[in-house]
Amino acid sequence: MAELRSQDSAQSAARHLAEVLNLPNFAPGWVWLAGAGPGDPGLITALGLHAIAGADVVLYDALVNPALLKFLPPGAEAIFAGKRRGQPSCAQADISRMLIARARAGRRVLRLKGGDPFVFGRGGEEVLALTGAGVPFRVVPGITAGIGGLAYAGIPVTHRDTNHVLTFITGHGADGHLPDLNWPALAKGSPTLVFYMALAHAEEIATRLLAAGRAGHEPAAVVSGATGAMQAVTVTTLAELGAAAKTSKAPAILVIGENVRLREKLDWLAGGGQPG
Ligand code: SAH
Repeated sequence: MAELRSQDSAQSAARHLAEVLNLPNFAPGWVWLAGAGPGDPGLITALGLHAIAGADVVLYDALVNPALLKFLPPGAEAIFAGKRRGQPSCAQADISRMLIARARAGRRVLRLKGGDPFVFGRGGEEVLALTGAGVPFRVVPGITAGIGGLAYAGIPVTHRDTNHVLTFITGHGADGHLPDLNWPALAKGSPTLVFYMALAHAEEIATRLLAAGRAGHEPAAVVSGATGAMQAVTVTTLAELGAAAKTSKAPAILVIGENVRLREKLDWLAGGGQPG
């Protein structure tokens, strides 16, 4: 009963939001590909929330905060399409097929992903499959973990005094290994390096960057479960990054660069950065 009431109030809240902001209609037969943000449910966009509240079916990933599903309409179908480590996941082709079949059946289909769907999220592959099948779609961006997660750790991804360049890198190539990157170019060209899916390769990343000329004493951090209740931040150095990663939990973002030092003053979540 209480659950139904909270579903009702979630639905009416989303309806008000859509009206006030004049949000677009989620039409039957469409697929919306939306980002849910990095973990804190408050970090989804208004459009993302509107999409959940209007969906007949949602296919969601492991990194999506399940609290957001309270906004689904009564009777909506929720399909977990996540990839969990060590377990056979829904194959990408199956996910695309499910999206297409449900859209063709005239349903409002929401594909909900952690962070931003186009940042290391295979969102591009899914919408390419939709265009191939002639299924209409809309993309709703989200706050990516490499920006929002670091903000919750008190680390601005750019800062005038530390970096004019920012690079997002995946530690996980299609074959599961560290991708074959131009390490000297990265080491020289980007003072701040933000790695996704790189916990298992942190040692190798540090070795490559040190060999390419980065300093061992340069600050680095591992941010686990960013923006969620279990957020944990380890500040370390490039030389010690591998060791720090070994004791950190997934999901985690690795960041290397002088801007990590700003956390000393800007760790607002822990009460830092307060006047006095
Ligand atoms: N599309 C997502 C990224 C998907 S790849 C985005 O834009 O954020 C999955 C990787 O994202 C994880 O291995 C981890 O590196 C990172 N990640 C996602 N959520 C995270 C979180 N709450 N805390 C730390 N890292 C996170």
